[in-house]
Amino acid sequence: MASIKESLKAVKQQLASAAQQCARNPEDVKLLAVSKTKPVDAILEAADAGQRAFGENYEQEGVAKIQAIKELRPDLKLEWHFIGPVQGNKTRAIATNFDWVHAVDRERIAKRLSDQRPAGMPPINICIQVNISGEASKSGVTPQEVLSLAKAISAYPNLRLRGLMAIPEPEDDPAKQHEPFKAMKALLGQLQENGFDVDTLSMGMSADMVPAIEEGATVVRIGTAIFGARSYSTE
Ligand SMILES: *Cc1c(COP(=O)(O)O)cnc(C)c1O
Repeated sequence: MASIKESLKAVKQQLASAAQQCARNPEDVKLLAVSKTKPVDAILEAADAGQRAFGENYEQEGVAKIQAIKELRPDLKLEWHFIGPVQGNKTRAIATNFDWVHAVDRERIAKRLSDQRPAGMPPINICIQVNISGEASKSGVTPQEVLSLAKAISAYPNLRLRGLMAIPEPEDDPAKQHEPFKAMKALLGQLQENGFDVDTLSMGMSADMVPAIEEGATVVRIGTAIFGARSYSTE
């Protein structure tokens, strides 16, 4: 099996070539290494290979790893993204430990994150999760609800609305993978036309990173392709 360092290098090459294919600057696509279920050692291996932005899905697990790494390597400056669903009783720990929250879909959660962001820290970066495939079981707002939630989030002092996030329904047909990403790009454009200063489209995972980049992703969230398969199901 390839080492984390080798896998990371391969993913970066894939990212760069996908960006170049559609005349985008690879630097405009941030690689978020999704380290959920993976140990601190794996994160440090990626960090030592140059990776700085990491994504976690579970508050307890994520905070424990963030704290452990701060103690082990106080000089290492990593950027932490909370990408899982946010429960109301977890907002304080998330607001205290993370730089970004990707999956906000309710004003109540936004308000708690703003209220609980510790004084002296910069505003926490927020993406609105959109249920772009219209799946009954998925979290995320409908496309029609994006504008009103964006207005609500923008009013909170300790939040900075950065853009939109989606997890489209898995689709094996590469031609069909593009549709939800295209729809997300249009929604971001609509926010910009309405005067919101947003720059982020968080979309694309190991299985659909290339079409996401082709449709305008600015953050891709990659776990398996960097760290290998997860040993227990997390979805
Ligand atoms: C687990 C997860 C990822 C990474 O998925 P891979 O298929 O392992 O790349 C990305 N985004 C979210 C929200 C996740 O939960």
